[in-house]
Amino acid sequence: MNECIFCKLVRKEIPSKVVYEDDNCVAFLDVMPRSKGMCLVVPKKHYTFFDEAFDTSSKAFDIALIIGKKIKESLEPLTVFFSVIQAQVPHFHIRVYPVYEDQIPLGENQPIETNEAELTELASKIKSVYVDWEPKKKEVVEVIKEVPVEKKKSKPKERTEEEVKVEKKKEQEKDFWKRRNLEMA
Ligand SMILES: [Zn+2]
Repeated sequence: MNECIFCKLVRKEIPSKVVYEDDNCVAFLDVMPRSKGMCLVVPKKHYTFFDEAFDTSSKAFDIALIIGKKIKESLEPLTVFFSVIQAQVPHFHIRVYPVYEDQIPLGENQPIETNEAELTELASKIKSVYVDWEPKKKEVVEVIKEVPVEKKKSKPKERTEEEVKVEKKKEQEKDFWKRRNLEMA
């Protein structure tokens, strides 16, 4: 039997305050929260690192965003932080922390005090928010931008003194032959 605590929570062998559930993930309130309303998004499948199941991890991130939005609208924190640290439980999960004024809910902070009644109330508040956002499959289209080639305007070449001289001489020669031809005619 799998002794993983998150697997037990997923199988409902341990009671938890679930705020969201679908075929891939469960989200519930952390019983030792770093801030009021802190939730965990846990894939139903047991694996430790994000790249062991890319597709499921991706769905978990989508759900984490939805939970973040639900928390923001129901509990009105300043913002919401997210973290993925597989240090304590070797079952992939995303932590969703509401951030209230003067409080940075870091993982290394001591858990705040809570109780069954408060957790029940928080769960029903978070659950009551409807988030109008569906994770969609996005097609990644690689756009290759054409880099416009900078057209160099050819500047009229500056003629050197020597070139000017040569040209002048040529003109003079032409002139000479012109005159001479006329004379010969
Ligand atoms: Zn597990």
